[in-house]
Formats: sequence, structure tokens, C-alpha cells
Amino acid sequence: MLDCAIIGGGPAGLTAGMYTTRGGLENVVMFEKGMPGGQITQSSEIENYPGVVGEISGMDFMMPWPAQCQKFGLKHEMVEVTRVSKDGDIFKIYKEDGTITQAHSVIICTGSAPRRAGFAGEDELFGRGVSTCATCDGFFYRGKEVAVIGGGDTALEEALYLAKICSKVYLIHRRDSFRSAPNTVERVKKSANIELILNSIPEEVYGDAMGVTGLRIKNSSGEVRDIQVLGVFTFVGNDINNKILLQEDGSFLCDVNKHGEVVVDINMRTSVAGLFAAGDMRLSAPKQVVSAAGDGAVAALQVISYVDEKLNS
Ligand code: FAD
Ligand code: NAP
Repeated sequence: MLDCAIIGGGPAGLTAGMYTTRGGLENVVMFEKGMPGGQITQSSEIENYPGVVGEISGMDFMMPWPAQCQKFGLKHEMVEVTRVSKDGDIFKIYKEDGTITQAHSVIICTGSAPRRAGFAGEDELFGRGVSTCATCDGFFYRGKEVAVIGGGDTALEEALYLAKICSKVYLIHRRDSFRSAPNTVERVKKSANIELILNSIPEEVYGDAMGVTGLRIKNSSGEVRDIQVLGVFTFVGNDINNKILLQEDGSFLCDVNKHGEVVVDINMRTSVAGLFAAGDMRLSAPKQVVSAAGDGAVAALQVISYVDEKLNS
């Protein structure tokens, strides 16, 4: 019986692991299906985490995190969790290898995955000019031209963010009307360095050994145009990794909103006692390493009190 099961070993899960074990919980396991580190290990550079000065890749940045946790007693089981359920007061963690672990409390930190738009070259040049994070990568295109794909709130807000850094932003959307809030659309239309390219889809992003050099787009009349951008940002929606909360009857173990995000309060508590969620998968997450780590710490401090009260009452 674990004091706490942490599911997911990205910045949220690792920080939760560090705070729970350092805070006195002795029996904590982090279930991570791959190497710990999370999505940021895909990034060629991180420069917006406090204290980071100089160039460091996401992989190198995350390297010391697991060792720091192990020092305080966190155990890592490399396995995919398939489901979490609650039986009375006890959580059951179902794993891909067919085994089940029981725990007094659970912190879910399985993150989210930005969708890919599906055009040629997108996967090959991902991380070398193709990005799904303007806050993370926008600065690399300071004073340069970039393209943004999508017509929702994220695409338009990120286009406005990029327009402050880049010399020009091409906003490419497959229809002639946007999903985004009307005032955001107005701000985009008024922006001097955002060019709207509507009724158009990206056909192919291409580049060389240094990264992206251009994007070919096609409009609804079949006309093809090349734009010489160095960065292509796709914002075509996000999938929250919430499947492990699905129960046998098709319902979620705890409250999940219409976007699939786990509903939490300010202390990362879900609607189920003893179940916490942290990082990119929780309601309105800023989707940054620093906020994921902060969530992990908040959830861990709550878990310590919860387990203490449960075992000593
Ligand atoms: P994640 O990092 O997504 O970690 C979730 C973990 O859970 C993964 O390791 C996954 O393997 C594991 N997992 C999922 N399902 C299961 C399961 N069923 N069983 C077991 N394990 C499971 N943020 C910044 O602040 N600055 C940046 O510069 C920056 N750059 C980025 C660049 C790229 C290319 C990407 C993709 C993201 C970037 N981000 C950046 C965002 C940042 O990576 C995320 O906000 C952060 O990693 C979220 O942390 P998390 O712990 O919530 O989730
Ligand atoms: P979204 O609303 O689902 O928008 C995705 C956009 O990408 C749509 O415009 C869609 O086009 C386009 N798209 C999807 N697949 C594509 C493809 N393969 N190729 C080209 N274009 C494609 O996603 P989101 O913008 O990430 O927003 C998600 C939710 O979060 C929304 O409810 C949004 O309101 C909310 N959100 C709110 C705020 C805020 O309130 N400030 C900020 C960010 C997000 P179509 O329009 O043609 O379908």
C-alpha cells in the first residue's frame, strides 16, 4: 500500500515526488512509462525557467531532476498506467503489465499533447522550426518572419504574442471566420504586422540542416503560395492525457471539463478526496515548466496533510 502514487514523470510529477518524499512520506512511487523528464525533453532549448542563464537543452535541463528525487526516497516504476479507480478509501492503479498497485492518495500529472496539423514535413522539422509553443520558442525568431496555423483562441492569442517579438506573423486559417473571441479577432485585425491568410491550409514545410526555410500553402481555389518563414507555429488544439481516469462504465473518476481538463481547486484537489491533479492536464494550465513544477509542489503539500490525517485519525 503506497502513501502516494504519482502518475507521470514530467516537471509536475518529479516536483510532486520531491516534495512528498522530502516532506516525510516514505512510500511514494512515480509511475512513468518512459524516461522521466516529460515533454520539455523534446525542446532544443529552455530559457524561461527562473535561474537558467545560458544555453541548455530541455533534455539536459531535466537530467538532474530524477536524481534529486531519488535522494529523498522517491521510487520510479517504468510502466504505463492504464486506469485509476477508487474502491472505498483506497485507490487502485492498473498497469499495462497486468498488475495493480494500491495507494492512499494519487497525484495525476500525465500532461497534455498538442495536436499536429498533419502537413508534409511537420513531424520531420518539429523542434527545428516547427513548434507548438510560442512562449517557449518565439524568442528564437526575434525580428524574423513566422507563420501561425489555426483559428482558435490559442492561435490568435499566440499570434499577438509573436507579433511583439517577430517582424511579421502570417496567420493561416482554413476558413474565413475564426473560433476565437471577437475582441481577440479585432486585436489581430488591427495588428500592423499580422497578415491574415484565410481559406488556406499548409501543404508542406521545408528546410535544410539548420531548420525551416519556408512554408507552402494552398488556398481553397487551389492556388499555391510559398512564404519564406523560419518558424511555423501550429495551434490546432490540444489533447489532455486523461484516459487513465476513464472508468469501465465510460464516466471519469473525477470532474473533467468540456476540454478534457481535470477540474481542480487552488490546492490541486479534484472532486474526489485523495485524488490530486497537477501540470498541463489541469484546468486552465499555463502549460509551462515553472507552473507545472509549482502545481506539483502544491499537490504534494496537500497530499502530506491528507495522508497524515487519514492514517492518524
Ligand atoms: P509532461 O511534461 O507532459 O509530462 C507528463 C509525463 O507523463 C510524460 O513523461 C509522460 O510520458 C507521462 N505519462 C503520460 N501518460 C502516462 C501513463 N498513462 N502512464 C505513465 N506515464 C504517463 N515550457 C516552458 O516553460 N518553457 C519552454 O521553453 C518550453 N518549451 C517546450 C517545447 C516543446 C517542444 C514542448 C512540447 C513543450 C514545451 N514547454 C515549455 C511546455 C512544457 O514542456 C510543459 O508545460 C511541461 O512539460 C508540463 O509538465 P507536466 O509534468 O504537466 O507534463
Ligand atoms: P480550438 O478552439 O479547437 O481551435 C483549433 C483551431 O485549429 C480551429 O480554428 C481549427 O479550424 C484549426 N484546426 C484544427 N485542425 C486543423 C488542421 N489539421 N489544420 C489546420 N487547422 C486546423 O483550439 P484552441 O485554440 O487550442 O482552444 C481550445 C479551447 O481553449 C477553446 O475552447 C478555446 O476557447 C479555449 N482557450 C481560451 C482562451 C481564452 O479564453 N483566453 C485561450 C486559449 C484557449 P476550424 O475553426 O476550421 O475548426
